[in-house]
Amino acid sequence: EDWKERGAAVGVKQEYDAEGRLVLKQVKKGVKDFAFGRTLGEGSYSTVLLATDRQTLKEYAVKVLDKKHIIKEKKIKYVNIEKDTLNRLIEHPGIVRLYYTFQDNSSLYYVLDIANGGELLGVLKKIGSFDEECTRFYGAQILDAIEHMHNRGVIHRDLKPENVLMDDQMHIKITDFGTAKLLPDPRVPKQPSTYDPSGGEEESTRAKSFVGTAEYVSPELLTDKHACKASDLWAFGCIIYQLLAGRPPFKAGNEYQTFQKIVGLEYEFPPGFPPAARDLVERLLVLDPQRRLSIEHIKNHEFFDGIKWGRGLWRQKAPRLK
Ligand code: ATP
Repeated sequence: EDWKERGAAVGVKQEYDAEGRLVLKQVKKGVKDFAFGRTLGEGSYSTVLLATDRQTLKEYAVKVLDKKHIIKEKKIKYVNIEKDTLNRLIEHPGIVRLYYTFQDNSSLYYVLDIANGGELLGVLKKIGSFDEECTRFYGAQILDAIEHMHNRGVIHRDLKPENVLMDDQMHIKITDFGTAKLLPDPRVPKQPSTYDPSGGEEESTRAKSFVGTAEYVSPELLTDKHACKASDLWAFGCIIYQLLAGRPPFKAGNEYQTFQKIVGLEYEFPPGFPPAARDLVERLLVLDPQRRLSIEHIKNHEFFDGIKWGRGLWRQKAPRLK
């Protein structure tokens, strides 16, 4: 039970006092402050609703989690990890921002950035595959978001095109941090409650109770039951491949066969796969996580030539999808 902050939670509002000094005020919001609208989506433990802040008229996506269901399914830990992780990552444009959390007797509420453009997977399926320019742009945005979370001591562990949402500018927003791993935050002396002092003993449980798509799992998680920052870069390599090829590199009839292909590094490039992208993917889909390209090296790889890294990436207009 980590829901002690009953009632409402925190946002920060900037105001100026009579002398013109900036004052930061805590704002508490609760269910009554929002007008709820249509359902945006459903997860296994949640319903995501469109909601409008009655005061500011700003629209949000509110994730509503049923407490009874979460307790019954023993998911309390994941729900708290998601909250703690999102709270650590709030100031990056490529990560779904958590604005408020609150609860009532039956539910937990997470007030999030709304991502109206759907999942990257849906966008990709609609057009089949991306050209090099779109792959470069979306790849760069995803990498920039990964760099931010790694700098803050967060390993996502479940990066895939379903977990990359699109906003109304067709920029990406990474979501689904329920299975993230929190490392000590390099910038903060005091660590959050969900910092795992066992150093991730949970890994084996997670691997055994593995659900969802297997296609992006790193070989080290399968062989050593251990995920590290480089595991996210393996998934990143799979995503780059998928954007260009229209399908993930490792795909088989069932999970076991997919895992076999991953640990055997059995994949092929379709004809016409751009050579620079091929070189990048080959340097990411490397079995030994220590020998995988680092973020710094990926940014300097020729595939990303012409990308201006940093905040400019988020002010840029998204290329037309084709
Ligand atoms: P599961 O819990 O089964 O893994 P999930 O992680 O997709 O599913 P949620 O994060 O609750 O579960 O999301 C459910 C659906 O709601 C998503 O598939 C997506 O379509 C929609 N959704 C989630 N977050 C947002 C958001 N910030 N903006 C718009 N739609 C969203």
